[in-house]
Amino acid sequence: MFLVGTELDGTLVDMEVARGKVVAIHPAGSLVPPEGAVIRRGGRVTAPLAEPHVHLDATLLGARSPNRSGTLREGIANWARLRPGLTKEDVRERAMMTVEAYVAHGTTRIRTHVDTGSLVAVEALLALRDEVAATGVELQVVAFPQEGILRAPGRREAWEEAVRLGCDAVGAIPHFERTQAEGTDSLRLTFDLAERYDRRIDVHCDETDDPHSRHLETICALALDRGMGDRVVCGHCTAMHSYENPHAAKVIELVAESGVQVVANPLDNVVLQGRYDSYPRRRGLTRVDQLWDAGALVGIGHDSVQDPWYRLGTANLLDAAYMLVHLGHLTSEEQMHRAVRTLHDQNHRPFGGALPVAPGNPVAWWADTDPVESLRKRAAPEVMAHA
Ligand SMILES: [Zn+2]
Repeated sequence: MFLVGTELDGTLVDMEVARGKVVAIHPAGSLVPPEGAVIRRGGRVTAPLAEPHVHLDATLLGARSPNRSGTLREGIANWARLRPGLTKEDVRERAMMTVEAYVAHGTTRIRTHVDTGSLVAVEALLALRDEVAATGVELQVVAFPQEGILRAPGRREAWEEAVRLGCDAVGAIPHFERTQAEGTDSLRLTFDLAERYDRRIDVHCDETDDPHSRHLETICALALDRGMGDRVVCGHCTAMHSYENPHAAKVIELVAESGVQVVANPLDNVVLQGRYDSYPRRRGLTRVDQLWDAGALVGIGHDSVQDPWYRLGTANLLDAAYMLVHLGHLTSEEQMHRAVRTLHDQNHRPFGGALPVAPGNPVAWWADTDPVESLRKRAAPEVMAHA
C-alpha cells in the first residue's frame, strides 16, 4: 500500500505502508509506486483511533433483549437477566464481531469494561485480548462491577477475582452503591486493589442527573494523594452537567490538577440521562468545553454497540464525536477540530499515549484533508491492516 501526496502534521509526504504500519516516509513526489500497487492519493494520516470506553461483553445483544422503556435502569435489568446464560463462545463471537467493526472504522486500540458478575465473560474477554493482539489490535479489559461491590455478598470477591485473573484496570460504580458513604468506601477499595495488583483505574462515575452525586471529587483527591492521576479514567461524569456552577468550577479545577481523564459517552448519555425530567429536559452530558478550558484531559467513548442500553451503536467513533459537538455546543471551528483530534490523541491516553506516525508504528489514512469534513460525513479512516 502506498500513500501519495498525503498530509502529515501539515506537510505533504509519500508513504509506504504494510499491514497497517508505516514502512517508510518520503518527501512528497519522490516515491514511485510499483506497477499494480494499491495507492491512496491525497488525504491525511494520523495515528489510528482509540476507543476508551465500550462494553464488549454486552455488545450485539440489544435485539435479543429489547429495552422497551429505553432507560438505563431497564438496560441494567435486561442485562442482569441475560448474564447467567452467557457462554465463552457467545461472548467471544459477539466481541470479535465488534472488534472487527471497530477496525473497519479505523480503531485499533479498545478499552472494554467487563461485568465481573460473569467470570465467564471475564475469562472470554481476557482470552480475546491475547487473540486479537496477534492482529495488531490492543485490547484492555476493565473489571467492572456493574451492580456494585458492596450491595450484596459475593460481589466484591468476584470483582477482586477478575482483577487477579488479569484485567488491566479496576472498575467501580460508586453512584450505584447504596449510599454516598458506601460509594466512597468502594472508591478506597478500588484504589487499594489497583495498588495491590499494579493496575490502572477506570470508574463509571456519577452517571446520573443527580447534582448531589459527587464521587468525581473523591476520585481526584485519592488520585492526588496516592500519586496515581495519570492512571485514572472517569467515564460519564454526567452529574457535573447539573452541578451548581460554583461547585462545577471547583471540581473541574480538581480534575485538571489531578490528571484524571474524563471520558464523555455522548451517544448513551443523551438518551439515558434526563429521564426524570419533563421539560426542559437536560442533555446529561459532562461539561467538555469547561474541562477543555481548564486544561483537563477529555476522551470520547462510544460506550454501547447494540447492547441492552443503546441499540444504535456502530463502532464508528466519529458518531460519538458528532453527537458530542452537537450536545456540547462545540461547533466553533477550533472545537470541531479538537473533537476529531481527541479520537486519535487523548483517546490513547489510557493506553499510554498515541504513538507518532513514524516507521514501525500504526497509521490511519483519511480521505479528507479537512477533519471537519470527516466529522460531517462520519467518514472514518482506513487502517489498512491487511494491505
Ligand atoms: Zn459504560
